[in-house]
Amino acid sequence: MAEQIVVTGMVLASIPVGDYDRRVTILTKERGKISAFARGARRMNSPLMGVTNPFCFGRFKIYEGRTSNSIDSVEIDQYFQEITTDLDVVYYGFYFLELADYYTYENMDAQNELNLLYAAFKALKKPEIPHDLVRYIVELKMMVFHGSYPQMFHCGGCGTEEHLEYFGAARGEVFCKDCGKSILDAVSMKQSTLYALQFIITANVGKLFSFTVTPDVLNELRVIMERLALLSIDRELKSLEMLNLMTRL
Ligand SMILES: [Zn+2]
Repeated sequence: MAEQIVVTGMVLASIPVGDYDRRVTILTKERGKISAFARGARRMNSPLMGVTNPFCFGRFKIYEGRTSNSIDSVEIDQYFQEITTDLDVVYYGFYFLELADYYTYENMDAQNELNLLYAAFKALKKPEIPHDLVRYIVELKMMVFHGSYPQMFHCGGCGTEEHLEYFGAARGEVFCKDCGKSILDAVSMKQSTLYALQFIITANVGKLFSFTVTPDVLNELRVIMERLALLSIDRELKSLEMLNLMTRL
């Protein structure tokens, strides 16, 4: 007998299988990342049709079988339809979903990652926060939740907490104004950039998308986050290629 569970989560990916079905990857609070079949979800009259798409957030009633899971019904809280219909933000949206897919796994507690996705999708619709800032916040916070984030509070050379003015990409660390000079790949960094990075590392998800930065700081964050992503992510993310293509046009 298949066991029935109810989980709260968000659809990260949904791919067509066979003639009428979908295979859905869901990030859930209770079971981490799981996959389940949505049988008949591509039939016009299926109640699963509109509720098994990426971004759908809600409660999923699932039958756990011995070899696979299947979705029985879904009660949606948020479709985030405004993300999928807005060409300015949709590529960010899919990239955040793929990042979450990258950093999560089965049977973990994914509450933090879910909260982050939810808050980020809300933030993408706020005109006062640049989309790229939302992106760097999501990237760094995912690394923090995963436990693989840079050392941003004292110098990687001498340990001082004063005058941290450089970021050394190879080691993913900050350096003071003296030590930074002898680090070959170090890039200089404004105080406000350091504060932004420290804030992202320490703040609760509820507060994360409450600030903005100047274009100069956003540029420094871009350089630093691109380097950190190279250190932290060991495979190419398809949605990132797409996002880079769209934002550089
Ligand atoms: Zn130092």
